[in-house]
Formats: sequence, structure tokens, C-alpha cells
Amino acid sequence: MIKKFTWKSLVPCCFQAEIPLEEPTKKIVKKQSSFQRISVSDISLSGPSLSADDISSSLIGSNLHVFTLAELKVITQSFSTSNFLGEGGFGPVHKGFIDDKLKPGLKAQPVAVKLMNLEGTQGHREWLTEVIFLGQLRHPHLVKLIGYCCEDEHRLLVYEYMVRGSLENQLFRRYSASLPWLTRMKIALGAAKGLAFLHEAEKPVIYRDFKASNILLDSDYTAKLSDFGLAKDGPEGDETHVSTRVMGTHGYAAPEYVMTGK
Ligand code: AMP
Repeated sequence: MIKKFTWKSLVPCCFQAEIPLEEPTKKIVKKQSSFQRISVSDISLSGPSLSADDISSSLIGSNLHVFTLAELKVITQSFSTSNFLGEGGFGPVHKGFIDDKLKPGLKAQPVAVKLMNLEGTQGHREWLTEVIFLGQLRHPHLVKLIGYCCEDEHRLLVYEYMVRGSLENQLFRRYSASLPWLTRMKIALGAAKGLAFLHEAEKPVIYRDFKASNILLDSDYTAKLSDFGLAKDGPEGDETHVSTRVMGTHGYAAPEYVMTGK
């Protein structure tokens, strides 16, 4: 069953510093021509009620698949501990396997299913930000979002499976040889290409959470950026910067951004 979510559930109070205080009177999602990327603000500021259908119709052409919770339970063996891959701020991540009969047009493949922790600090807004950005941005150095699930209060994300997990895990695993320098250079270059793509896009994106735990590695150490929950539209046209509430991770955010919010 698809639930309509309200303005309040869409924009939790902890994010209100970054949005206009008055509730907008404009209705629902702005219509976009097919080549224009829609922004988080196009959706989150667009009206008091927004359904999962509104999201999927805004993302037509993005090739995102909409999964039911039941389907994701089946492919992860009910989120079993044997399929557990790790846990970040959003919630636990489990490996799953999609067969070629699950969805028309979706090939058989392993996937990573991220489940929103209903008691956690991150919620619907991070989920929506991830769906909007990763649903529309495709690049060899960004992790591929395959689809999502939005059912009652449940929010899940389905990604391509990255065999070697996060760079942080690779760097700090206890019992393994350290990464050779050439591999480290390959990872750094891949991650930088992902960032350059975001910054040079027609509608630039500021990622805001660049760190080893958000860089995923596939079998040949190709690096891909993941976790767009804090991403934000960058400056456009004559703008030289955007001002934001300082967000990110201590020790990783650029000092001048932490000092000025620009
Ligand atoms: P995150 O919430 O993105 O920080 O993810 C938590 C952990 O889950 C990461 O450190 C990885 O070990 C694992 N993980 C997340 N996404 C994937 C993926 N697409 N493929 C494989 N492992 C993943």
C-alpha cells in the first residue's frame, strides 16, 4: 500500500534551518523538461502532500525501480544477519540477490539494500535527497542506485553491490595486507573524478560528506561515491557560492566552509 506523506513528514523540524519558514502555497512537483535535473527543493518545497507516485513521476527517465517491502525481504532473506554488510547513520545494509524474474528490465544481480532505522537520527529527508540525486546522476564513479521502497513509514534504498565495501573498511581492517600505493592512487583518482563530475555538472552538486566510509570499492578497486543524504544543489549562473547550515563530518569538512558556511 502506498501512503501519502505530508509536508511535516517530508521536512522534519531538524532541517527547517535550510528551508523557508512559511509553508509554500504552490502545488506539488514542478514539471521539468526531460533534460533538466530536478532539485530537492523542487520536491520538498512544492506542497503539503506528496505521494510516492509524485516522486516516481518526477523521476521518469531515471530508470529507478520501485520495490515493495515484501520483495526486499525475499531478496535479503528477511534481512538476515548472514546477509549483513554494515551499518551507517541511515541504518543497516544487507546484501540481496535479484533474479531476472523480479522486475521486467532488471537483470539478475547482487544488490545492497539499505534500510532506514526508524529510531535513528536520519530519516525521510536523507532518503528523499538520495533518491533525487542518485536517481538522476549516473557516472562510473558514483554508486548506482537501482531503486527504492517507500511503504508506510519504511524507507529503503537498493544499490549495486560493491564487492569490497567501503574504503574505510579496507584501510582499517585488522588482519589484511595494507593497500599498495598504486591501488591507493587509483582510488583517490576515482573518487576525485566522481567529485569533479558533481562540481562540473550543468546543475552542480555539493556533496558535503566526502570521507573514506562514503567511498565504496568494487572488485578492481574502482571507487564510487555513495551517501548523498547531505548533498545540496551548488551555485548556478552568476552565483559565487551557496550558504548552508554547516553540515558534514568533523575532521573532513573544509575549514573555510566550517568557518563561513559558504
Ligand atoms: P553506509 O550507511 O552507506 O555508511 O553503509 C554502511 C556499510 O554498508 C558500509 O560501510 C559498507 O560496508 C556497506 N555498504 C553500503 N553500501 C554498500 C554497497 N552498495 N555495496 C556493498 N556494501 C555496501
